Parts: sequence; C-alpha cells; structure tokens
Amino acid sequence: MTSIATDRAIGVVGAGTMGGGIAQVAAAAGHPVRLFDAVAGAADAGKARIAEGLAKVVARGKMTAAARDALLGRIETVAALDAMADAALVLEAIVEDLDAKRQLFTALEEIVGPDVLLATNTSSLSVTAIARPLARPERLIGLHFFNPAPIMKLVEVISGVATAPTVAATAYATAEAWGKIAVHAKSTPGFIVNRVARPYYAEALRLYEEQVADPATLDALLTEGAGFRMGPFALMDLIGHDVNYAVCRSVFDAFYQDPRFRPSITQLELVNAGRLGRKTGQGVYSYAAGAAPPRPATLTGPSDAPPIPGFDPAREMEVDGVLVTSTDGRTAARLARARGTPVVVCDLITPETGRRLGFATSPDVPDAVVHRLRTSLDALGIVATRLPDWPGLVVMRTIAMLANEGFEAVMQGVADEAGVDAAMRSGVNYPKGPIGWGREIGLGRVLATLDHIHAVTGDPRYRASMALRFAAEA
Ligand code: NAD
Repeated sequence: MTSIATDRAIGVVGAGTMGGGIAQVAAAAGHPVRLFDAVAGAADAGKARIAEGLAKVVARGKMTAAARDALLGRIETVAALDAMADAALVLEAIVEDLDAKRQLFTALEEIVGPDVLLATNTSSLSVTAIARPLARPERLIGLHFFNPAPIMKLVEVISGVATAPTVAATAYATAEAWGKIAVHAKSTPGFIVNRVARPYYAEALRLYEEQVADPATLDALLTEGAGFRMGPFALMDLIGHDVNYAVCRSVFDAFYQDPRFRPSITQLELVNAGRLGRKTGQGVYSYAAGAAPPRPATLTGPSDAPPIPGFDPAREMEVDGVLVTSTDGRTAARLARARGTPVVVCDLITPETGRRLGFATSPDVPDAVVHRLRTSLDALGIVATRLPDWPGLVVMRTIAMLANEGFEAVMQGVADEAGVDAAMRSGVNYPKGPIGWGREIGLGRVLATLDHIHAVTGDPRYRASMALRFAAEA
C-alpha cells in the first residue's frame, strides 16, 4: 500500500501539544498542512511554538534556516474547518472527549470528499465508538502519536471494528513515510503501549507497598540492572501521578476491573496529597532546589572477602556449601528446604551491561558467603543490593509481568509479537521488547516465576496468560 503523496494536504485539528507536533511531522515530510483550532488565535500560537522549537534545532546545527523556513511555510493556520476541503487526511488532536470528537468528524464529513482519510489521536477512547455516527465509519482510524510527536518514533495505527483494511494500510504507510515506526493495533483499552506498560508502574508500586525496597532502590535495580532508561518512580514523577493514575484507572475500568490492572492506593495518596511529581516540585522524590538525590540501598562490608572464582550471576554454582542460583519465582527459603542446602537467589540482570544486582538469601546463609558474593560482583563492576527473600524479586517479577501482558495482547489480536515489541521499544524506550526479552530469559522461567508468585499471593493478577503457557510448553 502506498503512502499519501507529499503534494497532498494534511489537515490537523487542535493545535495544542500533540496537534502542533503532528503538524510539524507532516510538514517535515513535505506535505502542505492546514492547522485549525476552535479557540481563536490558538492555531497561530501553535505554529509559533513549532517555530520556537525549530529555532533550537537550527541553533544546534541540526537543520538549515532555509529548511526551517520551508517547513514553516508549508504550515498554514486556518480559521475555519472548511479549509480542510482539499486535504487527503484530516487528523484530530482536540480535547479527549467522545462527543467532541464525534461532532468534529461528523462536521468534517460534510466538508471533505468521500475518499479522504479521517484520523484520531485519542489515547484512551474507542476508535470504534468515535467512528459510529459517521456516514463512512470505515475511513476513520486511530493514529496514536506519542509526546513529543516530532521526537517519539512510534505511531500506533489503530483499527476500529469498521475501519477498512485499505485505510489502515494507507495510514501505516504514511506514518512510515513520515519517518515513524508504525505498528498496527486493534482498538482495545490502552491499545498496545498504555496497556503493556502498566506492570512497569504497578509492580514497582506493589513492591514498595510490600516493603521490599524503597523507590530509589527499585528504580536503580531496573535502570542499572535491567537497562531501563528511567526507573518507574522517576518516570511516574515525570508523567505526573494524576495523569498516570488516571490512565491506570481508565484501563482498569475498561477491562471490567481485571485485577491485572488494579491501581495503587499509594499512588492515589500521592495524588490526594498534591504530590504530583516534577510539576509540583514533589512526587515520590523531591525536586526542591538542594534536595538530596535518591540513594539506592547498596550492600557494603569487608573488602577482603575472597572473590568466588569464575563467578557469573546468571549461572548456578555452589559456594562454600551454599547454592547460588537465579530466581524462578521461588524464595530462597523455599529452595533451601527443597534442595537441603542454604540458598542465595539472584535477581535477573542484563548480561554484559547490568551494573546492579539484587539478591536474597535463605536464613541459614553465612555472612561470609554474602561478603564473597559482594566482592565477586564488585570485581565484575556490579553493585549489590540485598533484598528481602521475596518471590520473583524485583527485575524478574517486573519483566515477567511485562512479557505476560505482551503475550495476552498478542493472544487477543491487539497486535502481533513484533508489533508489541517494536511499540514498547519505540513508544516508551524499553531496552528490549517484553516478549523477545521473555524468550531470551526462557519462557519456562518466566512462566515459573508467575506461577510461583500466583501460588503464594493467591492474587489473580499474577495468573499467566494462556498464550505464554502454551509458548513456554511448545
Ligand atoms: P491540548 O490541550 O494541548 O490541545 C488541544 C487543543 O485542541 C487545544 O488547543 C484546544 O483549543 C483545541 N480544541 C479543543 N476542542 C476543539 C474542537 N472541538 N475543535 C477544534 N479544536 C479544539 O491537548 P493535547 O495534549 O495535544 O491532546 C490532544 C489529543 O491527543 C487528546 O485526544 C489526547 O488524549 C491525545 N494525546 C495526548 C498526548 C499527550 O501526551 N499530551 C499523547 C497522545 C495522545
């Protein structure tokens, strides 16, 4: 399927954060763009913000002034929707309200020709529901850009029940032609990213509520140990707890309160307290001038403990009568009972790049072995964090839950495996796609982790996806 020709106009309705960004993307690809906003002067203000942003790009030498002028010259602010008449695609980024979006598209159908594509940038509404009142619902598609649209690579191309496959194909090809990573998705709550990412926040909040570790330590394990760009608490502080909590609530309710998506009371309390994150100067962390940086818990002790020869945190080995192994969701105490030996359980760590490892011990592990473990890690440039003896520890529990949600989404036809992984890498910058990551770890181990957590908690939130179970058994 071919993309929309660059000499064809693109209409953008709503000139706020997203509309402005999308107008810039389309103009950068060479299209004439018509930018409209319901509030007088807002389209011009939106264009002025685009110009400000581009001035910085030019100042950094990433774009010539001539290219900038040409790009801005292609964006025309318009005072009435009628100006969309010759557009090949009209995309809206107006207020997140079903009735407002339906009214807009109904009005647009009176203006544009029958073959013009209509697209919504909604993050949480059903594309199917938005299309319902249209004379031609088959031409409406979701094009979900991420903020900031000119920088974030992902576009979820979301088909509703009525969306024509040819419309999805054209929209996909056009997003790719605009330099984006396009991924097909079915209109379901949260689409791909806002659904599959939920455990990243939710498990961190639960681990904190279960008093496994403080936010700084949980963030450090996931960034330094697993390679995430931002820890879940730092990220929620950036997004804003009000926004993040609202998305949690909306996905939870949309899935008929499936416990997999259960929101966190801790996060609600942050909202109640007005500790919304960076924007209020205080969230989980303080952003006040001079505030102490978060300090993850790091194990210290005597430096003369002899390192374990050939130590590798991903390999099972015996050290002075203690079994050192990697988590499969069983606690060290339980493994110790089963194996008849004291046990150290190591969390998941990304080979080669991981720089922090969490571990837990059964009660009978001598301190001397813990110290040897620490100096061995030290020799590898890895910082050690001692954790309570908790099922699945921190990184393994998080990745297992992310992979599980990915498998569930694929099983339900929301996207294919490659689509889920690409969406999570380019939409939220995960170091690896969660399904591929699960395969790398070994699906048997991922499944065992979930099954063990499920067994001890009795919480249906940890039930393994049937798709993960079948894939692990294949
Ligand atoms: P925004 O408030 O920055 O901008 C919305 C703009 O739309 C405003 O300028 C407003 O005047 C205008 N508007 C409102 N109703 C209108 C109407 N009926 N006709 C024309 N213009 C109208 O909002 P935003 O953050 O850019 O979000 C816009 C849409 O994009 C929403 O559907 C939102 O859910 C979605 N979205 C937002 C983000 C994000 O991170 N901000 C990311 C992805 C998707």
